[in-house]
Parts: sequence; structure tokens; C-alpha cells
Amino acid sequence: MSELSELYQQVILDHNKKPRNFHKLEAANRSAEGYNPLCGDQLTVYLELEDEVVKDISFEGSGCAISKAAASMMTQSVKGKSKAEAETLFDEFHRMVTGELDEESMPNNLGRLTIFSGVRDFPARVKCASLSWHTMRAALHGEETVSTE
Ligand code: ZN
Repeated sequence: MSELSELYQQVILDHNKKPRNFHKLEAANRSAEGYNPLCGDQLTVYLELEDEVVKDISFEGSGCAISKAAASMMTQSVKGKSKAEAETLFDEFHRMVTGELDEESMPNNLGRLTIFSGVRDFPARVKCASLSWHTMRAALHGEETVSTE
């Protein structure tokens, strides 16, 4: 096993066991529900948006380890970012997991999120990894539900 996939597994396991920002956000003024019928992942993303900045973000739900770990890391990455920065991260993450962005040769702001680059080799897993991102974006746009189908 390569070093990268070991890191990937460790991070996924850690975030799955102890998801960050995993609760309902009482101060939320936006929320959206996301559903990935292929795998059964289901989650709600809560946003507290103030002056176009994501002041706080959290999620709840159930799903596979990848969807949960990705949601946990998504909340960490988006918290405190402006709406525009969150959109950029969504775009970069989406392009990375679908194979359009090579995180090693192309400039990006993904940081630790690049551990998810490996899912692009597993098309069924791309939806697990990106569900929380689609749901966060729907909440940002004031939409209430999103399905990966
Ligand atoms: Zn899944």
C-alpha cells in the first residue's frame, strides 16, 4: 500500500469515528438536505451565513465512511470562508474528484482535501465524497434539497 493511500485511510477512519462539526446548528439561517441513492448516504448541512461569510457550519446524517469523512472535512474547510471562497473550493474539489483537476500540477486551494483525489478511480465513490459539497452549495444558494441522481 502506498503512503498516500495509508494516509487517506487513516484520515477517513479518524473523521468517520469522530466527525467534526457533527450536530445541528441552532443559529443556522440556511440548511439543505442531500441524498445519494446509489449508496444510501443522507445528510443535512447547516450554515450560518453572515455578510456573505460562512460564520459557522455543521452537518448531521448517516452514510458510508467516505461520505461522513468528506462532510466532516468539508465543514472544516468552509468554516470562516466567504461565499465566493466556498464556491471556489466546491469547484476545485468537484473537478479533482471527477479527474478534471490534477491537484499536483494545477494551482488550487484544496490543502488536506487532496487526500480525496483517489476516489476519482472509483466512480461510485465520487458521489459519496462530493455529496456534502453539493449540499453545502445548495444551502449557500438557498436551495433545500439536492440529490446526486
Ligand atoms: Zn457513500
